[in-house]
Amino acid sequence: MHLEPFLLLDRFQHLKPPSLVNGAIETMFSSRMKRLNPYVPGEQPQDKKYLKLNTNENPYPPSPKIKDFLKNFDIEKLRLYSDPLSVRLRDKIAEKYEVKKEQVFVSNGSDEALSFCFYAFFDSTRGPLLFPEFTYSFYPVYCDFYGINYEKIPLDDKFSVDIEGFLKGADSCGIIFANPNAPTGICLSLSKVRDLLQNYSRENVVILDEAYIDFGGESAVKLLQDFKNLLIVMTFSKAMSLAGLRLGYAIGHEDLIDALFTVKDSFNSYPADMLSQTIGEIAISDEPYYRTILEKITSTRAYFGLELEKLGWRILPSKANFLFVKKKGIPGEEIYLKLKARGILVRHFNTDGIKDFVRITIGTKDDMVIFIEEVKNAF
Ligand code: PMP
Repeated sequence: MHLEPFLLLDRFQHLKPPSLVNGAIETMFSSRMKRLNPYVPGEQPQDKKYLKLNTNENPYPPSPKIKDFLKNFDIEKLRLYSDPLSVRLRDKIAEKYEVKKEQVFVSNGSDEALSFCFYAFFDSTRGPLLFPEFTYSFYPVYCDFYGINYEKIPLDDKFSVDIEGFLKGADSCGIIFANPNAPTGICLSLSKVRDLLQNYSRENVVILDEAYIDFGGESAVKLLQDFKNLLIVMTFSKAMSLAGLRLGYAIGHEDLIDALFTVKDSFNSYPADMLSQTIGEIAISDEPYYRTILEKITSTRAYFGLELEKLGWRILPSKANFLFVKKKGIPGEEIYLKLKARGILVRHFNTDGIKDFVRITIGTKDDMVIFIEEVKNAF
């Protein structure tokens, strides 16, 4: 079989900085493409089986009702396009959060909703976009992608998002941060979020990325009726244990949601496929199952944090399904490498200010018991 030369490129070529891209191929690339500085997802090595605690996946399976649905699914249905408006799924989401369907937007993973938000709402002619110095590392990637200037606001001395920091300074075109924040896991209270919204320009959109809110935080959905400039982005990947499905959503004022539909329909009419939409409906309706697994994860988080503390580790207070931790005198990279050699994957960010930390996803209780044993042996 004959393959075009560029198809023979390393499968992970797209993860390399443009400067490393093969020179012969470079002439075929747009100048836009050459300027890209892509997000690097957590590694998924295939060389052996790891205890995988590096991408904040849920250790429990999704609702068993999904299995029943898939067993009986009539593949004839795949002949047709999915509903471009995701009406039934948006109805279910609206019901859960007690908002109108017109306030809900559905996307292919919440990364896509976030990307559409950056396109729709942030425009540097009004000043930079503000986000915390340490937060979800996709935000600067989207800024570069869409040509949006940004300013990073340092966290406070306890690693919390600093509301005051957002409010002082020159004009900006909007604010975005994850709450609970990633990779710290620290969650701002609803009253702090309200303070921020009350004191910030009502003419700019404030996005809260609540990917991890169900692990112990309080959602800001309640504030939507008071703040038309608030938009909340959520996902089925974490609490719902459906990371492989790629389903996310945004909730906000109807005008903001309309804008997201305009962006979507200028890009891809059918981002949420038929199976995802129905599986999302099933998942969101199985509240009792998810309550049970969320309780398991939060109690395992408490157990695991205490055990690490007993061993002299520093733990940031987390309301997410991961802990951001460090051990005095041991660089984060060394922790990461030693654990990897022992078959455990965690995430290390080689970034000044958080280099000493590693982020550990909460697995099952058994996973974390193994983890603690390995830590006792390794450090
Ligand atoms: N926001 C945050 C803070 C995240 O950590 C992630 C997961 N990497 C996402 C959004 C995107 O999640 P997904 O696209 O799977 O919905």
